[in-house]
Amino acid sequence: MNEIKKSLRDLELGELTEILLEAGEQAFRAKQLYAWLHRKLAGSYAEMTNLGTALREKLSRSYSVALPEPVAVPESKLDGTKKFIFRLEDGHVIESVWMKYRHGNSVCISSQVGCRMGCRFCASTLDGLARSLSSGEMLAQIYQIQRLTRERVSNVVVMGSGEPLDNYPELTRFLRMISDENGLHISQRNITVSTCGLPSEIRQLASEGYAITLALSLHAPNDTVRQTLMPIARRYSLQEVLPAMEYYFEKTGRRVTFEYSVVQGVNDTEDEARELARLLGNWKRGGSCQCHVNLIPVNPIRERGWKRPERRSVEAFRQLLCRNGINATIRREMGSDISGACGQLRRDYLREETAER
Ligand code: SAH
Repeated sequence: MNEIKKSLRDLELGELTEILLEAGEQAFRAKQLYAWLHRKLAGSYAEMTNLGTALREKLSRSYSVALPEPVAVPESKLDGTKKFIFRLEDGHVIESVWMKYRHGNSVCISSQVGCRMGCRFCASTLDGLARSLSSGEMLAQIYQIQRLTRERVSNVVVMGSGEPLDNYPELTRFLRMISDENGLHISQRNITVSTCGLPSEIRQLASEGYAITLALSLHAPNDTVRQTLMPIARRYSLQEVLPAMEYYFEKTGRRVTFEYSVVQGVNDTEDEARELARLLGNWKRGGSCQCHVNLIPVNPIRERGWKRPERRSVEAFRQLLCRNGINATIRREMGSDISGACGQLRRDYLREETAER
């Protein structure tokens, strides 16, 4: 992998201002530069026409402003979902997804190249973690998608490859920058971060004062089943993770989401639905449920033998939760003709690329 320049897109406005002041420029130049990068979504210095060429040249010696290169963009014939395979400056390849909903366009971004959490049904983790993404690389997925589709992105979910809370400083910088009024200014209420459940980072995030939605990958009604699916469950029991989620709710007032990937013969029985309702019982407060369960029929990946349950049994699971006072929906499947499982497309791409060499 090549040596790469630091990206200007990783810097918050204050940091950018310091750099420009050091270079003998006035502070308003930093604001102009920030607007080029984060509002006008420039991908090259050439686009930044109101900045002097000498300044642009000087900056370009130390900093890159390149956006990731789209190397494949399959589009779903069913619902218009697009998947973007991007090549980063150091050659690593990541996957992002663009989904069109009635309430706006949503982008699912990756937070790391690969992942080291090892969840047994997830394609992103099969080769482990290559590296974490910088804040600018997380932003750039959204920027490049908005440029390419020419449509505004209104919702962001950090649910692609990687464990966002395993990349905490860059994630939080990303969250500040994507919601910054000098940038795309996406409302924090329209941003969801999904975690496998790292209790101390969940508590830390609760204290940041952000209004984002936090989703926990629960996937089981007890530790025993959870441990068969998620290695991280051996490190942190539900007794540590769930109170951290309650703390998040108390601190932020934001309802939390529990994701539950339903796997046939593993976590899909009616008894397990009842057990899950009991586990989440104390989220029923003041006559309403302060959490939401999102059921995801598992996307079987080639490398593992998991089976997706029948639609009927996922529906029965959902109804049992609802009857026990727990809000639950079945995740609508988007782009099923272009996906394979989460992270699977990127693997297919890498496999083809290797075969071509
Ligand atoms: N690291 C984060 C984001 C992972 S992806 C986390 O663990 O939450 C977002 C969600 O998709 C997670 O709940 C993850 O467990 C789930 N997921 C991953 N692969 C899946 C698959 N093949 N089928 C169904 N859900 C899957």
